[in-house]
Order: sequence, then C-alpha cells, then structure tokens
Amino acid sequence: MYRTHTCGELTAADINRKVTLSGWVQTIRDKGFVIWVDLRDRYGITQLIFDAERTQEDVIKKAQKLGREFVIQAIGTVIERASKNPNIPTGDIEILVEELQILNGAKLPPFTIETETDGGEELRMKYRYLDIRRAPVRNNLIFRHKVAQHVRNYLSQKGFIEVETPYLIKSTPEGARDFVVPSRMNEGQFYALPQSPQTFKQLLMVGGMDKYFQIVKCFRDEDLRADRQPEFTQIDCEMAFVEQEDILNNFEGLTKHLLKEINGVEVTDFPRMTYDDAMKRYGNDKPDIRFGMEFGELNQVAQHKDFNVFNSAELVVGIAVPGGNSYTRKEIDNLIDWVKRPQIGSLGMVYVRCNEDGSFKSSVDKFYDQDDLKAWAEVTGAKAGDLICVLSGEIDKTRAQLSALRMELASRLGLRKANEFAPLWVIDFPLLEWDEETKRYHAMHHPFTSPKPGQMQLLETNPGAVKANAYDLVLNGNEIGGGSIRIHDKAVQSKMFDYLGFTKEEAQAQFGFLMNAFEYGAPPHGGIAFGLDRLVAILGGQETIRDFIAFPKNNSGRDVMIDAPASIDKQQLDELHLKLNL
Ligand code: ASP
Repeated sequence: MYRTHTCGELTAADINRKVTLSGWVQTIRDKGFVIWVDLRDRYGITQLIFDAERTQEDVIKKAQKLGREFVIQAIGTVIERASKNPNIPTGDIEILVEELQILNGAKLPPFTIETETDGGEELRMKYRYLDIRRAPVRNNLIFRHKVAQHVRNYLSQKGFIEVETPYLIKSTPEGARDFVVPSRMNEGQFYALPQSPQTFKQLLMVGGMDKYFQIVKCFRDEDLRADRQPEFTQIDCEMAFVEQEDILNNFEGLTKHLLKEINGVEVTDFPRMTYDDAMKRYGNDKPDIRFGMEFGELNQVAQHKDFNVFNSAELVVGIAVPGGNSYTRKEIDNLIDWVKRPQIGSLGMVYVRCNEDGSFKSSVDKFYDQDDLKAWAEVTGAKAGDLICVLSGEIDKTRAQLSALRMELASRLGLRKANEFAPLWVIDFPLLEWDEETKRYHAMHHPFTSPKPGQMQLLETNPGAVKANAYDLVLNGNEIGGGSIRIHDKAVQSKMFDYLGFTKEEAQAQFGFLMNAFEYGAPPHGGIAFGLDRLVAILGGQETIRDFIAFPKNNSGRDVMIDAPASIDKQQLDELHLKLNL
C-alpha cells in the first residue's frame, strides 16, 4: 500500500499512529543531526523528521540523498511537533520516519514549486505539470471542477439532459474563422471544428429533447486577443417551447445558484438593461455596474459656445470621477496621455475640477463659464471634490473610449472589487451589425437568432434598427453568457440568409440540413451559452482564464509544453492529400 493517509489530513488526534505517506519532496532542511522534509501531495503538506537519535542510520543516509521533487514513500509514527505551524492543518504534528523508499528521483525543477514561485509565466507553461503541483494552480482546477459539478447537478435537477454533439462537423458561424481538419478518406474535403454546438442543439430541439445542456469545448480561430483561448469551454444550453422570459428566468436561477453555493452571495433579481441603454449609460454592452460613474451626454450643455472641438462632435460625453479633484496636474496630464494612446485613440480630454467651495476650474475656461460647468456637473452627477472627464467625437468611438477610461479609473480607485458581484441582463440587441470591411450587415449574434416579433418588415427599410430576441448575461463587466430565441420557421430562416448576403445555393449547401429539419415540426426554441472559463475565473475572484485551464495556450495560441502547432511529416501530408506551398 503506497499510503494510509494523505499529506493533508494528520493532526494531533493521530499522535502515536503508524502511517504511510507518499508524495513529493517540497523542501529539505538538513541540520546534520536532524533532517526535516516537507512532503507534499494534492491534499497538503506534512513534515517528516529524521533524527540521529531515533532514526536508523541507513534511513538517514537515504534521506540525505533526497532532492526537491523526489517522489518518496515514508513509513513512520505521528509525533507532536516541537515548533508548531498554525498556518497549515497538519502543523501540530510531524512523522518520525522509520522506513523511506525513493519511488522516483527528479531533476531539479526549473522553478520553485511553492505558492509564491520564482518562475515566469512562459517557463511555468512549458512545465505546466510542475506548475499544477503548486497550490494556487491546483486549487483553481479543483475550483473549476466544483463549479462544473454545481452546473451539472443544478441543470440535471431541472430536467436538462447532457448530450454530446460531434466535434468533426461543418462550419457553424459564430463570427470567427473555423479550425479545419482535412479528411484522409475524402480527398480535398475538410471537417470544421465547432465554434459552438449551435446547429446541433437546435436539431436536438427538433428531436424533442426539450431541455439540453452540455459542458463542451468550442474552437474559434480568432485573431488573438489578451486572455482568449482558441479552444475554450461553454456551458451550452437550449430549451424548446420557451420565450425569452423563460430563458432569462431559468439561467438567472443557475447563476444565482452558483453565486450562492460557490461564493455565498445572495443576489436578488438581476436588473435588465436594453442594449441601447447600456451603450448610452456605459458606452459598453457589458457594463460593470458595481460602481457608478455613468455617462452624462453633454451635447445640449456644451455645444452652445465657440469651442469647435465640441461643436463639430457627434457626441460630447463625460463621467464624474469620485474624489478626482485631488489629482495633481501631472496626474491629469497622465490621464490625458492615457486616453491618447493608440489603443484608446482619443484626440484629447477636457476636464473640470469640482472644487470643495462649489466652484469649477476647467481646461476650457476660455469657452465656458461657471454656469455652463455647473450644468455639466449636473448632467454627469459630479459632486464637490470630483473630476469630470469629457471626451468628444464620433458616437461609437467616443463611447468606447470613455468606457475604457471609466474602467481604468474604477480599477485605479479600487471600485472593481473581486468579491462583489453585480450581474445583469443586457437585452434587445440589434439583429444586425454593419461591417465596414465587407460593407455588409452581419448577424450580431448568429444567423439563427430571431428578430423581435413584427420587425421582419423593418429589415427591408432600416436593417440596422431591427432588434433581436437576443440577450447577454453580464457579470462585473464581462459577458459571461449570451443567447437568443431562434428562428424555427424555414421561410424566415431562408429569408434571413438572403438578408445576410448568402445566395440560395450557399445557404442550402451550408445550412440545408437545418432548414430541412425545420420542415419536420420544429418547436419554438431558444437557448444560451456561458463561457465556463471566464465564469470560473470571475467566481474565483480572478481575471485570467488561463489560470483556470489545466493546459492553456499562450497569448500566441501556442501550447509551449507540447510545442503545438507543429509541422507534420510528408507521409502524413500525402495521406491527407495536402501539398504545402511554403
Ligand atoms: N451559440 C451561441 C454562442 O456560442 C450561444 C447561443 O446562442 O446559445 O455564443
């Protein structure tokens, strides 16, 4: 038997017990007459002691040969520790070792396997299996398991059935490129890896499965952005015979359940905000509502003077930064530089200091008097002691810029607290989104999303104004889930493909299977998918999804541990009927 106990469970209650432990050597302290070894496994750390007076010489000799990360088995007796460590559960005891087996040696690890490590990110990714031995990474994986387990239990209890859908499929458009897999048996043909199981879950509804979920890998070949993974996990869900209200209620229930069980936080009903409102008030379709700093649109109170920058702008909009009047001139200049960075792209920033005595001092005093500035303070909700930051320009861009500034300032002010949770639904998304590059409308969500009832006509006259039965669940400034009520009528779906610029042939070739299915009794249906990686990270009070994925890719989409992607040999290429053109 390799072990009678784990390294995390022995306490003073076990004193005098004879035990066998197995694990990894974390640290060795050799004082000559006595050697202490910290033995680690998944469950914790237990101190082993070898001492010249009580331990046999051959055992001591073996102990002297140990190195960090050796895998060993120790048999001994639990004794009380002379100097106790109140920080760990096993801190009152140690094991006086009588027999020692070296189960496997280990090279010196390239970084320290401790909670605080000296290893940089890339190095730890390369030796991820060593990183996983560290408590923070291990705990994150265990945490993820716990979240997934709660999701499975909750949904199963509500009558959802977990069904697996295939990975080797044909393109499902979710707005990214497909990863493709060449077919050896079908020369010149390719499978696509699913960007989501979207079409399959809809087919399951046609199949009468009624309530489906799946914790599932999705693959999207997107240009890499910070903290995106080319493969990621969704909690994918679909229901038949539902309206938007049913979906929102069901998955608000799931989210509340998770917040309660995982974080001990009870959230009452989630607020709902229309997309238009979110853009107007926060410049963003995934607003962080843990703090205020709402946008105040200033066109009316700022476009009546000779300040041309504002007069020529589509939108003049500001936020009140609480306590911001304490910023020095230099700090404000830094903020101005911050919004002018190419990543943000603002041309400048106007600011107003709200003095304690009720007066104002702005960077545009030449153009605006105290009454004007007072009106700005009213619109932005600024109080004495605040700083008003104002940006102007084209609507969409300016909103995005001010939203970035709002988030940055909130982080700096400590307003984005990891243990505070403010979920909300953003609803009534536009159905279509104009794409400058292709000069065409694209489905904002995906082509299977239904327009709001009665808006089909509007598609002909003002496509950009059509709203969809689509919703996002937003938590602390992150989109953690999104979905829609689907089209379940063949004629409507076919028309939608027309609007999106598919020819009849293209639509038939790509999605004929779905439209055919709609001819055999498709029930009304809708669903949602949560991004599990992000959800777990947020519930865990952290920002980086990589930290919650066992074997993540780096920011260039590479697995630096196994070194993928990699080239394949000529024979494999030939079998796949592929010729490289390098
Ligand atoms: N398939 C969608 C997505 O991946 C989610 C949904 O509409 O249910 O975003």
